Amino acid sequence: MNVLLIEDESRVSEFIDRGLRAEGHGVTQAANGQDGLELGCNADFDVIVVDLMLPDIHGYDICQRLRHNRVHTPVLILSALDRPDDRVRGLRFGADDYLTKPFDFEELLARLEALVRRAKNFPSEESKLQIGRLTFDRDLLEVCLNERRIELTAKELALLELLMSSPGKVFSRTRILNNVWGYSEDPLTNVVDVYIARLRKKFDCDRKQRLIETVRGRGYRMRVD
Ligand code: CA
Repeated sequence: MNVLLIEDESRVSEFIDRGLRAEGHGVTQAANGQDGLELGCNADFDVIVVDLMLPDIHGYDICQRLRHNRVHTPVLILSALDRPDDRVRGLRFGADDYLTKPFDFEELLARLEALVRRAKNFPSEESKLQIGRLTFDRDLLEVCLNERRIELTAKELALLELLMSSPGKVFSRTRILNNVWGYSEDPLTNVVDVYIARLRKKFDCDRKQRLIETVRGRGYRMRVD
């Protein structure tokens, strides 16, 4: 596998680099967040390992920006921060796994292999989302209803992608704000409702058969038949 390692502590990155290479894997190192983010967005890796405490960009921000840039490569956070809070935050910001330092190399390797295996098992399902007559092509960023293409803005696409990623699941406004707009707190805005209304106007006008359902007091979800 081809690993991107974003870690500023050379002692740690050299240790991981040596271990992975000895197992026949490729490693690209980035010693700061900016370089890591650029590599992660522009090159193709099987998995990304990111440290949280980097000199420039926080690891959480890297996860979030990768996901905002539609990079779906699995991410493992490697950090000395070991409170449950840190883990939860990391996973919420788009990471797929979290390992605390000091770590056992065999465990790191096993977790990376598991992430890569999981990602490879579902490539086709991940690149194309479909709910009834509505399809979302993640590679082409193309949304079609009844095979007719619908023009959406970047935020509309991100919102729809989130909803379509788990059909039937209710997404709260806070969750949507966090995922699509990157707010970590509720900024007391109705931007989510505004965007839902825009999506409905573009493809979901039939009030009786709405694809995006409002679940009162809880949020929104994609209808599943
Ligand atoms: Ca560090």
